[in-house]
Amino acid sequence: MILMQREQGAAVPVQVENRLFQQTYDLIVVGLGTAGAIAALTAASKGLRVLGLERLNAMGGAGTIGAVVGYYYGSKGGLFEEIDKQVQQLDSVGFTKAGGVNAELKKYVLEQRCLEAGVSVRYECAVIGAYLEGSTVQGVRWVGPSGVEEAGCRMLIDASGDAEVCAMFGAAMLPPGRPVDGKMQPYSHPIVSVQNDVVRAFYTDSGYVDQTQDNELTQAIMQSACMPTHLPEQFDESRKFLKLAPQLGIREGRFIRAEEQVTFADVLNDRLSSQPLLYAYSNMDNHNKDIAFESVLQQDWAVAASLWGITISVPIPLGALIPQGFDNVLVAGRALGVDHDLASCVRMKRDMQKCGEAAALAAYVAISEKQSLHSIDYEQLRPLLLENGCLNPSNHFGMKDSMSTQDDQNTIVSWITDHETIQEGLASIRPGIAIWSSRREGAAINASLREWVTQQEDENLRRHSAFALALQGDAAAIPVLREIMRERDTFVPRTSRKYNQVRGYASIYLLGLLGDMEIVPELLEIIHSREQFVNLSTDVEFINHDDEYFFQYFSFSLMALFRIAERNRGVRAAIIKTIGPLVSEPDFSIMVTMKPTKDLDFDMAGTIRRIVNERFAQWQAEESAVH
Ligand SMILES: Cc1cc2nc3c(=O)[nH]c(=O)nc-3n(C[C@H](O)[C@H](O)[C@H](O)COP(=O)(O)OP(=O)(O)OC[C@H]3O[C@@H](n4cnc5c(N)ncnc54)[C@H](O)[C@@H]3O)c2cc1C
Repeated sequence: MILMQREQGAAVPVQVENRLFQQTYDLIVVGLGTAGAIAALTAASKGLRVLGLERLNAMGGAGTIGAVVGYYYGSKGGLFEEIDKQVQQLDSVGFTKAGGVNAELKKYVLEQRCLEAGVSVRYECAVIGAYLEGSTVQGVRWVGPSGVEEAGCRMLIDASGDAEVCAMFGAAMLPPGRPVDGKMQPYSHPIVSVQNDVVRAFYTDSGYVDQTQDNELTQAIMQSACMPTHLPEQFDESRKFLKLAPQLGIREGRFIRAEEQVTFADVLNDRLSSQPLLYAYSNMDNHNKDIAFESVLQQDWAVAASLWGITISVPIPLGALIPQGFDNVLVAGRALGVDHDLASCVRMKRDMQKCGEAAALAAYVAISEKQSLHSIDYEQLRPLLLENGCLNPSNHFGMKDSMSTQDDQNTIVSWITDHETIQEGLASIRPGIAIWSSRREGAAINASLREWVTQQEDENLRRHSAFALALQGDAAAIPVLREIMRERDTFVPRTSRKYNQVRGYASIYLLGLLGDMEIVPELLEIIHSREQFVNLSTDVEFINHDDEYFFQYFSFSLMALFRIAERNRGVRAAIIKTIGPLVSEPDFSIMVTMKPTKDLDFDMAGTIRRIVNERFAQWQAEESAVH
């Protein structure tokens, strides 16, 4: 048997004598947060002997201690609804009123239920290691008030939010964050205040952190507490400060490499599981403002088509919860097997609670049938998932057009196959669905797009047809895209409820994809033309001031130049010569507001420098390899 621990960032094995654990459980749940508390409760109510280990001193994680009290999408149904109902009933009999779910009461209800169900709960116990025999986890080791302890288990659910235990035993993870620079979504440091006798939480984005580095995490906690959004000036009699959430609001961290990875590309290409545990449901709610640095697919979706607001239901299969190569471990919560892009959709609290419930039911089936997780018969698991509504086939809408914040008022999106209707869509001020439908139609609509892109009567039809053609990789779009770029077209589509993207810089993104050499000098000029970007007259919720407007042009131009230079090495020298000195200037700075506030600026200089320096180093390495 080996004991695996994480030391200074790496999984370290220690050979140990065969352990006879003094305590053994059917299931150990690590982390009693959003997913873990529901997992422990579900498993115990099925009769399993469950140990729940939590490093803090309450249950509910981000949704209680972390003060993320609101629900944002997520699909309905499951045990959590019953718990929330109980919380609501208590809320009406003498407790302080709270916006969203009352966090204090939810902690209390979860504890009561765990006690009743017979979960052995250990608070202030941080798991620090796992015992392995081959690919089977035999037990875990933790440190708590009594010092170091350990227990054996037949099955493990890692619900630590960041797949901490999986990282300890060396399970494979996806590379962190987005491909270009590994940056994850911003964190928030939620503030809890009292407004008219109601406790309310507020979570504006505060910055970026790698929470697996204790020094960085501590800096983030302390620095964000001193930001303008958190200072005493923000509070008065009508909004009294109560506390800062003791758990930092981390939106993204590790993702396991799972037996069945679910990616954004899978979802957009209709490669969906037919054996779901649950349907996750949200829009692609990525909080990063530097969207030019996101993946091509995400930009196709959110920049070229402005489809930020489309909500998507995503079937999550059992394989997405199983770390590759391990047969008695499940990951419940936001570290499940998705990718960075899809994680902005698959992370909402309703879905993460269901994820805990589903993981526990899978563990129950495996244990009661004496099977490994890999050999569970889905038909045996499915009725259990359906029983409480954790799985509800009517939650699988496909996609919805979320123009209303009331989900039930939104309409289901069907991709358009009729070309006349696509033409109407492209000619409208809400062209996104038609643009994406054209992408799906591919060659079948190409001839029509080529015709529409040359006509002069309808500007929207011409310009949006160019977008659709560019997404098909067709260079016939180039003249119109150049026209849009040169005009610095300020048109903002109305496809999504929020965060639609300006047509001017979206055209630069597409010209970059098409590798248009002719625009290189113009892009280099944009990078040096901060003063050009003033007074964006159109109402764009995404952009709050001139510097931010410039940042979008700057970042899209930069990435377009990089894409063009991938195909045409000859332009690399000019790019290095123009951009290198600029970003190396010590006072180089471009400020961008964080979502959703207008009050907090973040300097993008560091992100830009990192991306530029890495790209230049890569080019240099390629150059050296040639010579
Ligand atoms: C700022 C912010 C705003 C959000 N807004 C919304 C929203 O409006 N609506 C919505 O639906 N969703 C929202 N989300 C998303 C949602 O809250 C999270 O994705 C979800 O709660 C994550 O659940 P989890 O179980 O994976 O992690 P958590 O709830 O964080 O639970 C992890 C638990 O594991 C414990 N733990 C970690 N390591 C160990 C260890 N080694 N040993 C023992 N215990 C350990 C932690 O203490 C914690 O209790 C938001 C998230 C953030 C950060």
